[in-house]
Amino acid sequence: MDNSWIADRLDAFASLLELGEANPYTARAYRRAAETIRSAATPVAELVRSGRVRDLRGIGPGIEARLRELVETGEIAELAELERELSPDLVGLGRYLGLSAKRSVDLARALEISTAAELRQAAAEGRLGTVPGIGPKTEAKLLDALAREDEPRPRRGLLLNNAWELVGAVAAALDGEAAGDVRRWRDSCEQLTVVCAASDPGPVLARFAGLPQIVAVVEEEERRAVGVTVEGVPVELVVAEPERYGTALVRATGSAEYVAALEPLPDAAREEDVYRALGVPWCPPELRERPFRGEPPDLVTPADIRGDLHCHTTWSDGRASVEEMGRAAMERGYDYLAICDHTPAVGAVKGLTPGEVRRQGDEIAAANEVLAPFRVLRGIECDILPDGRLDLPDVVLAELEWVQASVHGGQRMPRDEMTARVLAALRNPYVRCLSHPKGRYIHRRPENALDLERIFEVALEEGVALEVNGLANRLDLSGEHVREALRAGVKIVCSTDSHSIRGLGNMGLSVATARRGWATAADVVNTRPLPLRR
Ligand SMILES: [Zn+2]
Ligand SMILES: [Zn+2]
Repeated sequence: MDNSWIADRLDAFASLLELGEANPYTARAYRRAAETIRSAATPVAELVRSGRVRDLRGIGPGIEARLRELVETGEIAELAELERELSPDLVGLGRYLGLSAKRSVDLARALEISTAAELRQAAAEGRLGTVPGIGPKTEAKLLDALAREDEPRPRRGLLLNNAWELVGAVAAALDGEAAGDVRRWRDSCEQLTVVCAASDPGPVLARFAGLPQIVAVVEEEERRAVGVTVEGVPVELVVAEPERYGTALVRATGSAEYVAALEPLPDAAREEDVYRALGVPWCPPELRERPFRGEPPDLVTPADIRGDLHCHTTWSDGRASVEEMGRAAMERGYDYLAICDHTPAVGAVKGLTPGEVRRQGDEIAAANEVLAPFRVLRGIECDILPDGRLDLPDVVLAELEWVQASVHGGQRMPRDEMTARVLAALRNPYVRCLSHPKGRYIHRRPENALDLERIFEVALEEGVALEVNGLANRLDLSGEHVREALRAGVKIVCSTDSHSIRGLGNMGLSVATARRGWATAADVVNTRPLPLRR
């Protein structure tokens, strides 16, 4: 019973919790505990027996009880029972149908089945209704979901970073390419597709079914399959004949509306050749939302970005110091980085008082001594108070090189009040950029009521830029709103709003969102060298 075996069992238990309706934090806690145990220097079984296992980081009483059961009996009974009764594909199918792991077990027991195929058969025979607890309504719902297995959709799209992680990993494992919503960099991705080229599709389909990300293949044709992940998210695989790969890639990238307007598509091995044969200029995937056959603009690219203008440090809610963030930005090839920590009105986390802003200024000056010619800019993410005043006095803002203004609290304001509040901030002579203008959290909170047309007018008058926030759950402005801002003549800033060194990598999401709004390098303030004039 060594540490890695114990860690494996805890990991399996975590997966089970993820399948069920358990609090996601619980599953994460088990995963973290497994990680700790795997890297522990002492035999964990001994720590459990001597009652000292809670000395390890992240192990509380709940996990200790499971570990005790595991060490004393050699098994976690609940886990063993589920593993005995259910095939992974049945759990996957159950999850796809919206059933918790426990409910899937109950169902399997009542129907005396153990695989996904048997469940489908039982449903076809009308036996679902014989299960205690499944009334005619639930049965109808399950039958309906099973009938729509051919066109599986997650109830809600994945955030772009998670979607890329999943689809990118599947594509890499199969030597294929990410297509679908991910390739168009949509804010929320529902169509997750990977395209591969092979004369014989068999081996690719088999590899797909065996991937750790795919718990069940719910649909399989000669050159296409749909698998679901442990979270019930469907991933589509298209295996094209090599001489038709380009055609398959255009189709799988979508959008459906965009592709329909290009049909009929000629067969070609490369995407470029499909476009050439159509007599249409190649189109960046980010612009393939609506039908378009014209010459695309020269869109901004990550390589055009000279600096990042929105990040946090340990002075507020970031995890790295000023110098660490500066060095990481420098290593990304940037020329500058603006430190924009919070001000006190942000509430939930620490904000900087005027005195702290000045002390941070000293630290930034010291970092600049070390990192020159790279420049760390003195910035702030200053809260816009409900009455439109800013959370720091003008004399303090006047010292700074880059002032972002943000609405964080009081987001439920009526449209007129919210618009007046933000306009007042834009009129402040020191404000250079409006952060996450619409204040949305994708899938969690609707956008603030805000008259964007008025915001654009005044931003243009005052020379204030609008942010394209690169946090995956914000992406704010959205591509659609970027396009409106640019049409109004307003400049944008591509920022990461990073709270860690790793967060600086969100620039890709921000730039892609700007590209979805048809932005060129000239539209983006931080493609310019210092000093950044209005
Ligand atoms: Zn913010
Ligand atoms: Zn921020």
